[in-house]
Amino acid sequence: MRYLSTRGQAPAQAFCDILLGGLAPDGGLYLPETYPQVPRAELDQWRRLSYAELACAILARLVDDIPAADLKALADKTYTASIFSHCRPGRDATDITPLTTLEPGLHLLELSNGPTLAFKDMAMQLLGNLFEYVLAKRGQEINILGATSGDTGSAAEYAMRGKRGVRVFMLSPHGRMSAFQRAQMYSLQDANIFNIAVRGMFDDCQDIVKAVSNDAAFKARYKIGAVNSINWARVAAQIVYYFKGYFAATQGSDEQVSFAVPSGNFGNICAGHIARMMGLPIRRLILATNENDVLDEFFRTGVYRPRTAQETRVTSSPSMDISKASNFERFVFDLVGRDAAVVRDLWAKVDAGGSFDLRATPYLARLEQFGFVSGSSSHADRLALIRTVWHKYGTMIDTHTADGLKVALEHREAGVPTIVLETAQPAKFAETIREALGREPRRPADLEGIEVLPQRVQVMDADVAAVKAFIAARCGGDN
Ligand SMILES: *Cc1c(COP(=O)(O)O)cnc(C)c1O
Repeated sequence: MRYLSTRGQAPAQAFCDILLGGLAPDGGLYLPETYPQVPRAELDQWRRLSYAELACAILARLVDDIPAADLKALADKTYTASIFSHCRPGRDATDITPLTTLEPGLHLLELSNGPTLAFKDMAMQLLGNLFEYVLAKRGQEINILGATSGDTGSAAEYAMRGKRGVRVFMLSPHGRMSAFQRAQMYSLQDANIFNIAVRGMFDDCQDIVKAVSNDAAFKARYKIGAVNSINWARVAAQIVYYFKGYFAATQGSDEQVSFAVPSGNFGNICAGHIARMMGLPIRRLILATNENDVLDEFFRTGVYRPRTAQETRVTSSPSMDISKASNFERFVFDLVGRDAAVVRDLWAKVDAGGSFDLRATPYLARLEQFGFVSGSSSHADRLALIRTVWHKYGTMIDTHTADGLKVALEHREAGVPTIVLETAQPAKFAETIREALGREPRRPADLEGIEVLPQRVQVMDADVAAVKAFIAARCGGDN
């Protein structure tokens, strides 16, 4: 399988060649040259597979430069009950992504049983093992530099901790994360993980990452890389649980289901789109946003208008607080019939700080053909849904999953099972749970009291030179 850039001006590459990089050299995002097709008979066979077996079967269709036996070893090592151990009491952790049925035809797919209690572990844990494998084969190293306001940074650190050839330098805004989030990241004692708390906001952290990455000489000398959500391997790994969820919610492979996906950067639902393109019988992809509704607006109107930093709201589902959706270009590439020249035109506007409008084009009518519908929710909606699910079904959901469920209920159709992706556990967002229910969320036993563990973090001013010096000092000069 070769990978193409959505902007059409970069050479096609193999999976391992794009694994460690970010954007394609022409500024585009990589996608498979064609989507592998999974016929009905194969779906019937896959229905019986374990999560790791299914991951292996799907990845084998997308990766042709890792031998099958190695791919199997990587999937087995990643998708085990000891890593995805944080499931609800009484559930089977060997399921990896257990399905909870709220009522007939309405399900939650639990994607947040990994080490950091958010769905990003599903892909990031595989990425950690893939990185280690490919770096060892090539005799290379990588220094991952990132900025986080919570979920992504901790998922990356738990995936990369102790991995040979990998160091992680993660910037976070000093004093602005919850005590639990700080404890999750800063209590890691692994020698290859470096937490930097920047005196400033998340945007200051992100600006430093950009400044360091724009210094081509520094970037090359210190082998600076990223694990952000445009990484193709993350999207690829996420395709697997759409298949797993489909099998869990259906009896036979002629049935259809719809998925509701709490969305921010469009990474999660992009995997659903690709699963559908591969032939998984998905009727609708229900995209849910919070008050930061740039994507909902697009799917309702055909206008894509990224927001400014000032327009971006801080909400109680913070992992969906985005101003633009970095993976969205992948979907638009398919929407415009894979015409890279059209994508280049549209993103020339976006990259210049503007917007685009598909209303007068034939593409708008195709949105339905791709199965997309959308909606948004508010803080009040989240509180109401968290209460309803708790009182009606005895299940506690987090704020992001509440966004998904709110929009799922608006688009639910009789006779079509609807699967809401549970993207985080309520324990991560205790403050809103207390507001909604007047009680504490359950925290997995092994995470009790992590706030009192010793922490390892360097506090620094928002100063690019200081961050560079910190990295250089830990990478042993000219290597
Ligand atoms: C990252 C995240 C999302 C948004 O996922 P995207 O792939 O960015 O659309 C939703 N919920 C939670 C809990 C997250 O951490």
